[in-house]
Amino acid sequence: MTDTIVIVGASLAGGRAAESLRKLGHEGRIVLIGAEKDRPYDRPPLSKKAMRGQHPEEKLYFRAEDYYEANRIEVRFGTRAERLNGTAREVELAGGDKVAFDKLLIATGADARHLTCDGAGLHGIHYLRTLEDARAIRGELAPGKRVVIVGAGVIGMEVAASCREEGLAVTVLEIAHLPLVRAFGPDIGELYGRIHRERGVDVRCGVGVASFRGSARVEEVVTTTGEVIPCDFVVAGIGVVPATAWLEGSGVSLDRGVLVNEHCETTLPGVYAAGDVARFFSPRLGRYTMIESVENAQTQAGTAVNNMLGKRDVHSPVPWFWSDQYELKLQSVGDVEGYDRVVYRGSVEDKAFAAFLLAGDRVKGVVGVNRLKEIAAAKKLISASIPVTDAMLADPEIPMSKVLAAGAPPAAT
Ligand SMILES: Cc1cc2nc3c(=O)[nH]c(=O)nc-3n(C[C@H](O)[C@H](O)[C@H](O)COP(=O)(O)OP(=O)(O)OC[C@H]3O[C@@H](n4cnc5c(N)ncnc54)[C@H](O)[C@@H]3O)c2cc1C
Repeated sequence: MTDTIVIVGASLAGGRAAESLRKLGHEGRIVLIGAEKDRPYDRPPLSKKAMRGQHPEEKLYFRAEDYYEANRIEVRFGTRAERLNGTAREVELAGGDKVAFDKLLIATGADARHLTCDGAGLHGIHYLRTLEDARAIRGELAPGKRVVIVGAGVIGMEVAASCREEGLAVTVLEIAHLPLVRAFGPDIGELYGRIHRERGVDVRCGVGVASFRGSARVEEVVTTTGEVIPCDFVVAGIGVVPATAWLEGSGVSLDRGVLVNEHCETTLPGVYAAGDVARFFSPRLGRYTMIESVENAQTQAGTAVNNMLGKRDVHSPVPWFWSDQYELKLQSVGDVEGYDRVVYRGSVEDKAFAAFLLAGDRVKGVVGVNRLKEIAAAKKLISASIPVTDAMLADPEIPMSKVLAAGAPPAAT
């Protein structure tokens, strides 16, 4: 096929899509357009080792600098797409250039949500989405400095752990009653609140930010409960906003993201979307959903590419997410809501356990700490909807392979 395929958003979904198109033998032009100056790189280390300077920047990039030219991928890094003209089938770039396409992949991901309260524009208030952001935060880290983290979601708690390990005095403010609830549910929220407090983080829940004060830089955070917390800098992790402003009026349906069907198709023929920007119809759930994760961005980009090249693949993933805080590897697979009971395997005390979230005799989701095998098996239990018994799940002596085999239908003869 010699179509021109344009990809807007040069990160995980976009970068991987460009690579796959060439690997799968697409002969036509591939144009990869990205607002960031950096070539596609891995974001998860930004809140973990990279933020602490323990992960060389060069290792973040998916591909060597000369990879794109060698593979005839035309790149426009440091260039923002300003408008999609759905009628002319052109992407209009900052600076005035227009790039015509036969097929288009929208992979513009999301931007960090910004605070809007009084003082939110002061220097020293950071967000963490890009390598540039991580570099700026790294420049602030020094033992003894005081950081206030706004938001106890995954990014906030990972930054809290990283800052604490660098010897900073860390306060976390969270408006909800527990940390990490949205991604991992209340039990993990409770446990991680405790773990962070044991390490010396001042985790305050049910508290938001009323305003920031300072002359040029931020010096104090005023909370919604009226306390004043002196600080040297702030990191806010209060969620993301899908990057869709450039698509207004294009004919692509938007609803808190780009709406796509299970084939990654938007409402404009030949225009696809994948990754954090896409709100997709999940046949597994029977409704639209969004998953902001590495695995989803990669697999959805893969499905979009296959379909651009003529297949009819379906994207219907079981969500999988991880978070590294201190020495603990936290993972969740499936859904962390809609369950009727929890069965534990392993010890919460020892911080090595899997919590199986069950509805009837089916696993809806699993949240595990330092339990990689259980997570891998749970993915299969959930995707194939294999029945289980509480007793087998709870017994760490019974290998997960046996749990899978016990519930799986007998092989056809
Ligand atoms: C600090 C951090 C830690 C994370 N940790 C984990 C983790 O542990 N596990 C996990 O599964 N996931 C994690 N994630 C989430 C994961 O990184 C994202 O799900 C993934 O990056 C999504 O990829 P994407 O390509 O869809 O979007 P993005 O990575 O957001 O990339 C979108 C790209 O499009 C560009 N863009 C936007 N608008 C335009 C435009 N108009 N024109 C041109 N370019 C544009 C952006 O600049 C960006 O480069 C983390 C994210 C962050 C920020």
